[in-house]
Amino acid sequence: MSDTKQVGKEILEHLRFYEELGVRWVLPYVSTPSEAPPPSHDIPGEAVPADKTRAPNEAPQRPPLVFAQTHSMFDALPGRAETLEEIRADLGDCRRCKLAPSRKTIVFGSGNPHADLMFVGEAPGADEDEQGLPFVGRAGQLLTRIIEAMGMKREDVYICNILKCRPPGNRNPEPDEIASCEPFLQRQIASVKPKVICALGAFGAQSLLRTKEPISRLRGHFIEFRGARLIATFHPAYLLRNPNEKRKVWEDVQKIRDYLISTRSP
Ligand code: URA
Repeated sequence: MSDTKQVGKEILEHLRFYEELGVRWVLPYVSTPSEAPPPSHDIPGEAVPADKTRAPNEAPQRPPLVFAQTHSMFDALPGRAETLEEIRADLGDCRRCKLAPSRKTIVFGSGNPHADLMFVGEAPGADEDEQGLPFVGRAGQLLTRIIEAMGMKREDVYICNILKCRPPGNRNPEPDEIASCEPFLQRQIASVKPKVICALGAFGAQSLLRTKEPISRLRGHFIEFRGARLIATFHPAYLLRNPNEKRKVWEDVQKIRDYLISTRSP
């Protein structure tokens, strides 16, 4: 196939994907440094929904979601935030949990170290374990397309997972593994200081928010979280199995995009 035909085919595929999502138009998201202060109502131990996309006098449709403690000891640390390199160095050749013997590569995270938007998935799969990078398999390719549909590039955002090592056979993360790994994720969040954290799938959202609420209830709402806004949406792997749910994810990521645009300095 000629280069022109190949490009044409890729553009067509792209447009079909946008159509599936319900995308009508895309504006490029141009990242500019922001001096905007973090939201002031970050109440320790009581993360509250911060869905400002609703009209002020419009009644909430569902009872509010209230979450347990979402702060950690790292919030209290004085001084400058650690760099991602420092956190990675501290992680080292991690043997803190039982996943170490079976993993090939630690998947720390990748992307813009000062991103406005951070995606948090569940755990590396086989492709990620091979390459040492998050979301590079089929689900990752779908995530990249979602990011691009938002008018952003993958390099604009930071992507990581609750766990940094692949659970054997892609089984669910276990509580002791999450407990060993999560402090590093919390330090990454403190270092990147994103405006928005997008939790992908039930595991990401439930672990960060310390809740057992189903993802169907958690998704689509902004929740104050460590000076950022957290919003959960369906995991791209779930979308591969349930393509009809893509539109809901598109609704969720549009909220993110609109919020990021609204917080940009003029
Ligand atoms: N699924 C995840 O949750 N994370 C990855 O990095 C890849 C697939």
